[in-house]
Amino acid sequence: MKLSILGCYSATPRTLNNTTSQVLEINNHMFLIDCGEGTQVQLRKHKIKFNRIKHIFISHLHGDHFFGLVGLISTFRLLTRETDLHIYGPKGIKEVVTLQMKLADSWTNYNLYFHELTSKKSELIFDDDKVEVHTIPLNHRVYTNGYLFKEKPGERKLSIGAVENANINVAYYRKLKQGFDVVNEDGVTIKNETVTKPGRKPKSYAFCSDTMYKEDIVPIIKNVDVLYHESTFLEQHAHLAEKTKHATAKQAASIAKQAHVGTLLLGHYSTRYDGLNAFKEEAQAVFEHVELAEDGKTFKF
Ligand SMILES: [Zn+2]
Ligand SMILES: [Zn+2]
Repeated sequence: MKLSILGCYSATPRTLNNTTSQVLEINNHMFLIDCGEGTQVQLRKHKIKFNRIKHIFISHLHGDHFFGLVGLISTFRLLTRETDLHIYGPKGIKEVVTLQMKLADSWTNYNLYFHELTSKKSELIFDDDKVEVHTIPLNHRVYTNGYLFKEKPGERKLSIGAVENANINVAYYRKLKQGFDVVNEDGVTIKNETVTKPGRKPKSYAFCSDTMYKEDIVPIIKNVDVLYHESTFLEQHAHLAEKTKHATAKQAASIAKQAHVGTLLLGHYSTRYDGLNAFKEEAQAVFEHVELAEDGKTFKF
């Protein structure tokens, strides 16, 4: 998995800071997560091929998370895109996007599918043979979902010596990799686990922004490899976090600790602070493995 941070600041784009947008590469998919203003410029800077983006996940309808969407859809059209585009987001996203297209009389020449979300419970919204995506209901001023991206378990690996000794026809190797028991050349049933080993451990990534401290997400994100959790504020402004339904770095770390995640990635910083180190220090007092998201950074895991 590779995560590219296109933007990770709250509120407004500034000279050096972009609002929320990320690209997650997972098993040949290229998922765009949120689409703040200027996302298409950031995509170009990262040399990400527009055509590879087929699924866009929008957390909520605050401008710093989706004001770049209609521009991106329009640019796709100008680039004569033909590939289908799927957009997942809160109910209303179809109306707000299509109204702008309608008034400009500029419909897309590719298929645009909206998957509008209303549930307050976690649900499976994307599923293929390699990846699944679930919503993570969050608590913010408007209806908001985070997203959980999970690889499915890969194929098992053949234990080379054991498989050869078991006198199995190579035509059955595929079945073995898929986890089935097979019958060998002597008519004996060979138990799968005696000739194979587990494949690579499936990876997972949880994106949680924007939200106030919400413990009930813990079971949904349990043991993920990487958790991106918003930390708009530091504890000194906990009262503002409470009022605006955002979280502090310490609260993000508490969620990471309870969920036993591999790494906590902080982001959605308020631009009121001069540097980001205070976010890391505050979080690390609670949970050790903390990284700071920064515009232009990529993470491989
Ligand atoms: Zn925001
Ligand atoms: Zn928001």
